[in-house]
Amino acid sequence: MVPFKPYFLGQETPPWPRATSVQKCIRTPDIEDVGKTTRHGTFFEMCGNFSFGDYFKERAIELAWDLVTKPVADGGWGLEESRLYPSVYSEDEEALELWVKVTGLPRERVLRLGRKENYWSMGVPGPGGPCSEILYDRGPAYGPDFDPSALGPDMPVELEDRLLEVWNLVFMQEDLSAVRSKSDFDIAGPLPHKNIDTGMGLERIALLLQGVENMYEIDTMRPVIDRAEALTGRRYGAGGDQGPADDVRFRVVSDHVRSSMMLIGDGVTPGNEGRGYVLRRLLRRAVRSMRLLGTEDVVLPELMPVSRDLMGQTYSELLTDWDRIARVAYAEEEAFRKTLQAGTAIFDQAAAQVKSGGGTQLAGSQAFALHDTYGFPIDLTLEMAAESGLSVDESGFRSLMGEQRERAKADARAKKGQHADTGIYRAVLDEHGPTDWVAYETLSTESRPLALFSAGAPVSRLGEGEVGELVLDRTPFYAESGGQEADAGTIELPTGRLEVLDVQRPVRGLVTHQVRVVDGELDLGATGPLHAQVDEEWRTGARQAHSGTHVVHAALREVLGPSALQSGSYNRPGYLRLDFGWNAALDPEQLSRIEEVSNRALRADLPVGWQYMTLPEAKEWGAIALFGETYDAGQVRVVEIGGPWSRELCGGTHVEHSSQIGTLVVTGESSVGSGSRRIEAYTGVEGFAYLARERDLVTQLTTLLKTRPDDLVGRVGDLVERVRVAEKEIESARTAQLLASAGTFAEQAEDLDGVAWVGRSVEGAGGGDVRTLALDVRGRVPADRPVVVALVGVKDDKPAVVVALNDAAQARGLAAGDLVRTACGVLGGKGGGKADVAQGGGPALSGTTQPDEALAAVRALVADSARAR
Ligand code: ATP
Ligand code: MG
Repeated sequence: MVPFKPYFLGQETPPWPRATSVQKCIRTPDIEDVGKTTRHGTFFEMCGNFSFGDYFKERAIELAWDLVTKPVADGGWGLEESRLYPSVYSEDEEALELWVKVTGLPRERVLRLGRKENYWSMGVPGPGGPCSEILYDRGPAYGPDFDPSALGPDMPVELEDRLLEVWNLVFMQEDLSAVRSKSDFDIAGPLPHKNIDTGMGLERIALLLQGVENMYEIDTMRPVIDRAEALTGRRYGAGGDQGPADDVRFRVVSDHVRSSMMLIGDGVTPGNEGRGYVLRRLLRRAVRSMRLLGTEDVVLPELMPVSRDLMGQTYSELLTDWDRIARVAYAEEEAFRKTLQAGTAIFDQAAAQVKSGGGTQLAGSQAFALHDTYGFPIDLTLEMAAESGLSVDESGFRSLMGEQRERAKADARAKKGQHADTGIYRAVLDEHGPTDWVAYETLSTESRPLALFSAGAPVSRLGEGEVGELVLDRTPFYAESGGQEADAGTIELPTGRLEVLDVQRPVRGLVTHQVRVVDGELDLGATGPLHAQVDEEWRTGARQAHSGTHVVHAALREVLGPSALQSGSYNRPGYLRLDFGWNAALDPEQLSRIEEVSNRALRADLPVGWQYMTLPEAKEWGAIALFGETYDAGQVRVVEIGGPWSRELCGGTHVEHSSQIGTLVVTGESSVGSGSRRIEAYTGVEGFAYLARERDLVTQLTTLLKTRPDDLVGRVGDLVERVRVAEKEIESARTAQLLASAGTFAEQAEDLDGVAWVGRSVEGAGGGDVRTLALDVRGRVPADRPVVVALVGVKDDKPAVVVALNDAAQARGLAAGDLVRTACGVLGGKGGGKADVAQGGGPALSGTTQPDEALAAVRALVADSARAR
């Protein structure tokens, strides 16, 4: 109902007196209930009918009752009247009488419930009113028997799944003057226009009509459970000790897979705050539930397409946007798998530490580190701790989390200036009305100062060098918004000059200037009119950068396809960056095509224009509204470049023709978290400056390499090749030198009871060299004399072991594989091979004597077997 608020509040005249709707709803607070009750989804479809000062209570009751009870053949749902119980707000006698009149039910069948259940408000002064619910009695299997006339004011928890609430009708009839809590508010009087707002959960009706146990088993959700059963090998509804817990997990999977898919479909990407965090939590809970059901495989590519095929029948964008949705979801699962891997290793270490110290509890700080650094949810830590027989200091964990949250809040406050408490700004707004904001029309105004704040409190003067916040009656300064940096400029006083450091809009309608007194002083009482002047060059740059952002966005979508959607942007004079949902790095060719398309748009000198329209009109027009931006309920501003080529909802300042952007130089692209990329570019003079720097670099290189720019790449390529060849020559000279020692090694063989033993470590030799050398040494000993050659090469600190025997040595019962394993064992590594030649290696050496120790172990084996004969 949020888009309808202005109509309910009487701020705007609705274009129609009545409406019906189907809304996609995400209800995060219900997440813990999912799968445990029969009726709570994190995503559900809410159907409703609305009246804006048109029909009221009686008609709303008639419409609802009619739909719910009319036989299916006549287009109704045919629910049995004997199972239906309306509820009213206990003080709403009018509604009670109407229910009896419309339905013919006896009065005692109408439940009277209190404010908590049946009084609706927005939580702020404004419209409110009593509600009526329609409840369906699912019978004794779902809860105890009850006496309808004795129920209230609260609905007993044990009856909530039995008396299933399917529909809530809100009768907006009162004007609330104060709202202190859900059940504590003051009613100022009746509303001039009475409204109806109803909400009916599609899933709840579906579960009744389809005769299934709960909402997770209806036709648009159950197939996901079926797929999860196939993947995990466990059965839904299997009973037994594990049964109930498993069933909850199956339901969580079916709910969360769908909810997260719908969220991504609407443009949300996983993140650590706000809706991004909700999405991340849903995806991770789905994956984790599958793990608890026994599969460690990648699951979303198996589950989400099932949900897509079901929901895509209604929401076709799931099909057209599937590539993007799948990319985002699957990348998050990948990221979570890595998190689990890294976190599990850290967890194991922490658990071992606690145990070796004789402890039984993981410290709050350890749980916090797991959460903070490895993204380990606390419930995961709790569970893994329990599995290894440990408890967790949960209260310690929670207090650390609380501290962190406080820090984050303080940071956010600090960043936004003193905007934490908006009361002071509201007071200015109430007294003087909204700022006359003329940033689109002019760069300078004569203005009157209205209020001055320092450190969040009103002050009357600022001395030279001091910083404060100034409110003017009118201003040409652009306040930071929509990714565009605030304007820079000055405010001239009769008695001095202010530099504008920042411009914000702390509350809707009010613009504030953060200023520093660079000259003289600012005295609120004494000062006459001020002259506010935006820095012209700054604004020109800002317009170029903001229009440039739209151009890059349109080019991006032209090159990558419409699923590449901006998720955030920032621009200031000369520079822009744009974040967008995309999973793979862009290759250089895509990047230069984006740059080319952008520059063609500049050269085509496309007209840039803007106009106001309603949000539905803007959407109709193909304007891109960015998810998460809040737009005015009334008129929105659509900026277009080259007609339909680029249409975006935007309040920024723009050039008049695309050629005025001057230059657009894309400087690179990078990753910003999973499923999100960033592209950066320079515009205007900055673009030229960037290119000039590059040219300067080329000049330096051509001078250094004594060549022309066109030959530069060839020249550097040649140099790189020559270095490579030289390195290779050095390497082979070294190998030759190494191999030359074969003769010496063979001559100096030690005799162990008739076996010629050569055990050497060779500095600087890798596996290949060592092998060649070992075979060479072996070949230099007469074939009838048993010989064992064991060499340990050490290159870059890593050992490579080769053992080679001749036939005569094998005839003595020696095997190269066994010997190599012994050597590698000493080095902490692995090895193996045949009876004549075997090789292996180990991790980086931890001491210089290790190769000798490994050789000594092999020598001892050879000596033993020789003696044993
Ligand atoms: P409950 O007490 O069962 O949680 P509610 O009082 O929160 O319900 P309302 O806020 O009145 O419900 O929402 C209107 C309708 O939306 C409900 O009658 C129900 O049909 C549906 N609904 C509400 N929450 C959910 C949910 N989490 N999942 C599915 N449907 C829901
Ligand atoms: Mg609820």
